[in-house]
Amino acid sequence: MSEFANREFGDTLCLFDVDGTMTVARAEITEEMQEFMARVRAKVAIGLVGGSDLVKIEEQMKNTARTAYDFTFAENGLTAYKGAQELETQSFLGFLGEQKMQKLVNFCLKHIASLEIPQKRGTFVEFRNGMINVSPIGRNCSRAERNAFEAYDKEHGIRKEFVGLLEKEFAGWGLKFSIGGQISFDVFPEGWDKTYCLRHVKNHANFKRILFFGDKTFEGGNDYEIYNSEETEGHAVTSWEDTREQLSKLFDVPIKA
Ligand SMILES: [Mg+2]
Repeated sequence: MSEFANREFGDTLCLFDVDGTMTVARAEITEEMQEFMARVRAKVAIGLVGGSDLVKIEEQMKNTARTAYDFTFAENGLTAYKGAQELETQSFLGFLGEQKMQKLVNFCLKHIASLEIPQKRGTFVEFRNGMINVSPIGRNCSRAERNAFEAYDKEHGIRKEFVGLLEKEFAGWGLKFSIGGQISFDVFPEGWDKTYCLRHVKNHANFKRILFFGDKTFEGGNDYEIYNSEETEGHAVTSWEDTREQLSKLFDVPIKA
């Protein structure tokens, strides 16, 4: 029998994006939402799945993620907790291995060395747990230089051409390239979007129904894949108040205690 079977909706898990779904973007969760979610949890299992790292998620959840939620998935599930218990952690380096990582980094640096662009500064490749971030101008440019690069890139397609070369060179490595922000693009394994967390759910519990709530469910948004996954029932929300409203109706939990 499932450990969640004593809850009214014991075969169901509700997963929530953090930013814009549980909280105002980049802000902390409100006390009334914390209180409401505790009453939801009495009826159904709940979990968080955020793109940020665990430190940032715990900041936004006022350090209660791993006590007030049944699952906490940071970096889309690369760091995973069931309650306070850490599940396996995965990294981009672990996925690629050192040899391939160096091939990838060397290729990027060689290409950057061959580029002639108006300005170059420092930190061209930034190493992160779940990805590398590549910037032709370098991440420690000033704000003015950043704006200038963005305008130059719009006209000359520096990043687009760069990604095209990488896609060709590293075809078959299972990599995904995502141009975002003003000066860089990310490189990470295919499938390391929010659907990544679902493998932990499958390994550590047995739910018949998984609901997902998120605010960036449109194409290109970071909730798009999990919202549209066949394994979840997607719910688009516009704010944490909307999340609360939808949960209140779905599970018959009054908004005020
Ligand atoms: Mg969001």
